[in-house]
Parts: sequence; C-alpha cells; structure tokens
Amino acid sequence: LSALSIIVHGGAKEIPPAKRRAHRDGCLRAAEAGWTKLEAGGTAVDALEAAIRVLEDDPTFNAGYGSDLNAEGEVQMDAGFMHGKELKSGAVAYIQGVKNPISVARRVFEQQEILLVGDGAYLFAKEFGAEICPKSALITEEKRGEWEQELKQASTVGCVVIDRDGNIAAGASTGGTGSNRRGRVGDTPMPGCGYYAENSIGGVAMTGDGEEIARVVLSKVAIDFLSQSGNPEAACAKAIKTLQQKVGGEAGCIMLDCNGKHGWHHNSRDMAVAYRTEDMKKAVAFTRKSEEAGR
Ligand code: ASP
Repeated sequence: LSALSIIVHGGAKEIPPAKRRAHRDGCLRAAEAGWTKLEAGGTAVDALEAAIRVLEDDPTFNAGYGSDLNAEGEVQMDAGFMHGKELKSGAVAYIQGVKNPISVARRVFEQQEILLVGDGAYLFAKEFGAEICPKSALITEEKRGEWEQELKQASTVGCVVIDRDGNIAAGASTGGTGSNRRGRVGDTPMPGCGYYAENSIGGVAMTGDGEEIARVVLSKVAIDFLSQSGNPEAACAKAIKTLQQKVGGEAGCIMLDCNGKHGWHHNSRDMAVAYRTEDMKKAVAFTRKSEEAGR
C-alpha cells in the first residue's frame, strides 16, 4: 500500500500582507479536505476534486467564485487534471456559469473526450446536474473593483495527490490571467502544460504565465526532470529555471513523486502552498518558499 500525500497551491503571485492569512487558511482547508477523502479510502481523483472545490469556493483565490474578470468584465474559467495510471485526463476551458469547473472536468475525464469548451462544456455540465449559476454569480465585489481599476491579479489553484493504491492525480483550476481576451485559454486545462501525472514517476501542477508555460510544455518537462533526478525539490527548481531561461515569465509549481515526497518552487514573489504527508498530524501552509526553511 502507498503512503498518502497531498499538496495544494493558491497561485503564483504577489500576496499583500493583509491577505497572507486568508491564503494560508484557504490552502490548509483544501489540503485537509483532500486528506479527509484519502483517509476515508477515497481515490486520488476524489481527493483532488474535494481540495480544488474548496479553493474554487473561496473568493481568496482566482478560480470558481472570486475569479478574475476577463476584458469584458465576465468570469470565464479553465480547469483540468490528469490521472497517472492510464495517463487519462479531463478538462474544461472557457466555461461560464458553473460553480465548480473541476467537477465538470471530472465528468469529462469519465468520458472519452479530454477537453470541452465554452457552451459545449456548459451544456455538458447541465446535463449531468452540475451546480450551475448565473454567470454573474461568480463575480465578487472586490474582483469587479479590481477590474474597474484595471488591476490584474492573476493566478490559478492546483493540487497533486497520491492515494493508497499509488494512483496520482494532478490538476488545476483558474479564472485566467485577469482582463484576458474573451476566449483566451492558457496552460491550465492542457495536459503536459498545466499539469501532468504518471504513477511510476509522480505528478505536477503549474501556475503562472500561461502562454509561456504552455510553449515549453512545462509540466511534462518537470516530470521528465523528476524521472531523471528522483528529487521533486530539484525537479521543481529546474523546471522554473528552464522556463525563465527559454521564454521568460513567472511561474510556480507543486509536485509529488511516486512515494509521496513533495517539492515546490516559484519565481513569483509569493505562492501559497499547503501539504500533508502520513507522518504529519495536520497540514502545514506557507505563503512563499523561503518561509519553509524554518519549519
Ligand atoms: N496559468 C494561468 C493561466 O494562464 C494563470 C495563473 O496561474 O496565474 O490561465
């Protein structure tokens, strides 16, 4: 039997001091929600969905409720994940009017397709009884205000988890890059770009400049680094460095190897992260990598 492990993040970005606690608490709650599923015998997909739903429902994060608005002042979302056993994935992009895009991605995963977009994704969500809502119900006053002032505060949420059977799931959910063009889609719903998982190696989820991440297929690159070095911390650092060197840009990533050992790294100023492994009584959280050293 495999050791359980989970790691989540709240996005590569700058976190103002007044918002550090909310980021830490939100990530802790998400990690614990996933952990509860794992301990109850749930699958990696159950745990990933539970963790990401917590982050989507929390207006602190740019996903689900509280997503950034696109150029036209609407919320459009992308989410997806991959399962490391048969290299299966499921995702939605440019979806509007659903409360939890990750749960729609899960239903896509259970079908033949890997990605549904826009109206098609919405209709599919409606068909299986997902929680739908008016498009505007996902807009918070704070995000509307930021949009009016043309403040961009992009980011994504993500999760990587391993269950008792050694199955790894890795995924992400986002409201996009803030004031992005209607219909613009970044790395988040694409396997190999926003996330990747392979049971014999590990799983990874990305956040940051989506165009740059996608152009270098950064999640797959990161997993290849892990397979070479066997060291998730080093693989994450090397992936972010590769992005910087090849195309530039800001990003962050979280990773688990196939034994549940975690790694994370970011070149953005901050990134909230929480994780829990079997030797821990509860999850721990940080808002940037340098905070972890004193743990
Ligand atoms: N990667 C996301 C996107 O480009 C945004 C982010 O993570 O900051 O849609």
